[in-house]
Amino acid sequence: MAITQTSISYYGLNYVEHAEKDFAEMLDHGCTTVILAVTEFDFDFWRPNIPKIVAKAKEMGLRVLIDPWGNGKYFGGEQVSKFLQDNVENRQVSALTGEKLPYACFNTNSYRDYFRNFCTTLARECKPDGFFWDEPHYAFPKGIASITGGVADDWTCFCPVCRKRFEDYYGYAMPRYMTNDVKLFRWREALVVLSETSRALKEIDPKLEITCCVHATQNGYYVSEYRGYDNWDMVASCPYFDVFSTTIVNWALPEDFYRDITDRTVAVAKKYGKLSERWLMGYYKQPKDWAQVARWADIAEQAGVDRIAAWTYRGGYGTVVGAPDALKLWDTIGESYRRLLKK
Ligand SMILES: [Zn+2]
Repeated sequence: MAITQTSISYYGLNYVEHAEKDFAEMLDHGCTTVILAVTEFDFDFWRPNIPKIVAKAKEMGLRVLIDPWGNGKYFGGEQVSKFLQDNVENRQVSALTGEKLPYACFNTNSYRDYFRNFCTTLARECKPDGFFWDEPHYAFPKGIASITGGVADDWTCFCPVCRKRFEDYYGYAMPRYMTNDVKLFRWREALVVLSETSRALKEIDPKLEITCCVHATQNGYYVSEYRGYDNWDMVASCPYFDVFSTTIVNWALPEDFYRDITDRTVAVAKKYGKLSERWLMGYYKQPKDWAQVARWADIAEQAGVDRIAAWTYRGGYGTVVGAPDALKLWDTIGESYRRLLKK
């Protein structure tokens, strides 16, 4: 077994001739694949250039996956959401306070239609190699196993659409505390938008490859995030997903935790006949000991991971989430990529 795909994410989809130089740098850093973070603003404003950028990347020998980055704030990412700007309703609602939150409710037909159209339009116009579902999630809760959050009791979604669907299915009003019925309802509904869109994409082109990347959480007896995609068996068994992927673990977390997440990712992917992917933190933080990058890449390879990816191009250089030594982090990840590919 060997790692055959080394990915890097990329934003700033503006000019083809600028992207071309960046793609050359990615190839020089041992990247086989670029994950294009397409924002709702890019889709709305830079549409004419996106297919040209995809074509240029493919011409240069990179695989191209499209990431609907931060779409509806339902997916992970710092971008702002045009859907939320244009829609006062169809937002996730807090179960405890009833407040509307700045996250699209992906169980509403309004958002499901919006998202499917976003992806199918890009599939038709850009002809990428696949799509990347990037940390989809309910707003709450998130637990201590997360790199992003703390303990929380509140949960979503308690919007009118979710409440009606729950009551229609179970025959009683949706409770405000998280029961087993609520947990199952949330898991099941959360998969609908991604399954339907993935199926629609494969109807356009059966070769389009779908990667579903969920939060790297313990999901143990005591600790789970309950953000909708923490039931890895349910996610990995979806027939429209080809790659089961789990997200970044902070360099400062114990190596055993990283190893445990990696082993479980491979096991779940294998169980359902999917490829496995693990991520490295290529932005925001860097390891105290630079050799940790190679060590964690080796752990992934030895665990039988098929693909490795890092967020993001140039270590986030020039952004608020740039690593302190962003360019050195980028170069160090590149060294590991080239080594893994034996280039
Ligand atoms: Zn809802």
